[in-house]
Amino acid sequence: MKYSIPKFWRRKEGYYQVVLTKCKECGKVAFFAYVRCPYCGSSNIELVKSSGRGVIEEYTVSYNRVEGGEEYLPKIIAVVKLSEGVRVVGELVDADPAEVKEGMAVEAVLRRFSSDDPHGLIYYGIKFVPAIRR
Ligand SMILES: [Zn+2]
Repeated sequence: MKYSIPKFWRRKEGYYQVVLTKCKECGKVAFFAYVRCPYCGSSNIELVKSSGRGVIEEYTVSYNRVEGGEEYLPKIIAVVKLSEGVRVVGELVDADPAEVKEGMAVEAVLRRFSSDDPHGLIYYGIKFVPAIRR
């Protein structure tokens, strides 16, 4: 990922939290901060922050090596159904691939994604971790 600092700064709200678009016309909720409802096209929408909690519906474990990404192997990619009913795709971290299962409760956290180089931007974004039972 290579962004200019101003561009990344402008988009930080969508990178640092799970933002949903809630339509006031059709009532549907969609993942990401849209300016119009992706279902009916209405601009009568509001942006809401997701709880970040959900369950894994499906997942896969990737062992593909990506240049500069060896330290993160293996990588667990999951389809998470958020408590608001919206599905998102994200990486599951702090989890043993052998213990991951469908229906597992997870929650969103802010984690490091990558960096441009040793002296460049460090990118952070949303990943998921197993939910702690409280
Ligand atoms: Zn709508």
